[in-house]
Amino acid sequence: MLCVTGPPPSSAGFLTSRGPCPLRTSGTHDAPTSHPRRFAQRPGGQRPGVTAVEQIPDGIRAGCPKRMVFGPCGGVRDDGGCEVAAQPCVFLDPPLPRWTGPVPPRPAPSADGLLARSRRGPVVLSDLTVRPFDRACVRAVVGALAPVSDGLLIGEHQDRPDLPPTLMAADVLAAGGRPWTTLACRDRNRLVLEQELAGLAEVGVDGVLCVTGDARGPGVRPGVTSVFDLDGTRLAALAAEAGLTVAVPESPDAPPLALRPARVAEKQRAGAQLVVLNHVASAARLAAFTAAARAAGATLPFVAAVAVYTDERSARVLQRFPGLHLDDAAVQRVLDAPDPVAAGIVAAVAEARALLAVPGVVGVNLSGLASARDEETAAAVKAEVATRIREGA
Ligand code: SF4
Repeated sequence: MLCVTGPPPSSAGFLTSRGPCPLRTSGTHDAPTSHPRRFAQRPGGQRPGVTAVEQIPDGIRAGCPKRMVFGPCGGVRDDGGCEVAAQPCVFLDPPLPRWTGPVPPRPAPSADGLLARSRRGPVVLSDLTVRPFDRACVRAVVGALAPVSDGLLIGEHQDRPDLPPTLMAADVLAAGGRPWTTLACRDRNRLVLEQELAGLAEVGVDGVLCVTGDARGPGVRPGVTSVFDLDGTRLAALAAEAGLTVAVPESPDAPPLALRPARVAEKQRAGAQLVVLNHVASAARLAAFTAAARAAGATLPFVAAVAVYTDERSARVLQRFPGLHLDDAAVQRVLDAPDPVAAGIVAAVAEARALLAVPGVVGVNLSGLASARDEETAAAVKAEVATRIREGA
C-alpha cells in the first residue's frame, strides 16, 4: 500500500496561507457563506453520469454547524437547541428550504426487494448491529436476521466506525442478506460519497438510506474532522442519479414539528422512494405526522421505527438519542417485568402491530440494541420479534 498526503484540489484557494497546514484544516465546519451557486459545466474530477450542479436554494441559512442547506437535521433538541453547538437551530423558523433542483428518475425497485415486497404486505427492516471490523459477527447476525427480514439496515455510527459501506454491503449479500446501507455525510466528502454510491450500485444493494448524520459526540475521536460537504437531501439526489433506490430518514417528534411533514415531500422531490421514520411516542402521533406529510404532497411509503430493548442499557441508549421519543411508561413496564427479555419482545411486537395499522405505513424498522449482552443475543431477540410480526402471532 502506498500512503500519500496527495495534492490539494485545483480549486483550493488557500495556498498562500501561513496559518495551520491547509490540508489539515480544509473540510471542517466553516460557515456556509461561500457556497458555489451553480457550476455551468462538469469540472474535472466529476464522475460521469452524476450532476455537478449544486442545488443551493436562495436564502440559505448561515450558522449550521453541519453546513446543512436542506435542514433541519433530526438532532434538534426538544427546546429547539442545536444538536452540535450552544445555539438555537437555525432552521426553526419557516420557510422550509424547498428542493428546486431536477427531480431524478426513480429506478424500478428490484423484484424481490423491500419496496416490491411492501406492495404485497407489511415488511420488516431490521437494524444490523455487529461488532465493528468483525466479519464473522456479520455472518452470524445476518444468518439470524436475514431469513425473517425483508431488508437489513447497515448503520453508520459516529462512535462505532466499521468497514467501508461498500465492503459491508458485499459481506451482507454474501451472507444471504438484503442490504440497505446507511450513508452519512459526516465522515466523507462529496467525492468519497460518490465513490461509495458507485460501489453500492455495483455491489447491488437493495437500497441506500441517505442521512446527514449525527454529530460526533464530545470526546469521541478528538481531532477527527467532520466533513458535511453535503446534507442528506442532496445525498439522496446523488444516490438516485447513481441508479440506487433511496430511503431518507425523518424525525417526527423533533422541532420544528410543524415543518417536518413538508420535509418528507421535499426529500421525495430530491429522489427518495421510502421514508424511515425515527421513533415516536405513540401510534396516534405517527398517524398525525403521516397525514400531515400526505397533505404536504408526500406520496411515498413510510417505515416506522419499533424500539427493541430487553434491558436497562438497550432502553437507555434509545432514550438518550436526540430527536427520538419513546413511551417511557412502556419502557418501565418492560424493565420491571419478571422476564424483561420476554416482555421486551412482546412490547416490540405490540408496538409494531399498532404502527402497521397507521395509513401509509408499509413496514417497521426493528431498531435499537435489543440486548446489552452481545450482538448475537441481540440478533436472536430481533429475529424473534420479526418472526412474530410476520406470523401475525
Ligand atoms: S440542530 Fe442540526 S440543522 Fe439545526 S443548526 Fe444544529 S446542526 Fe444545523
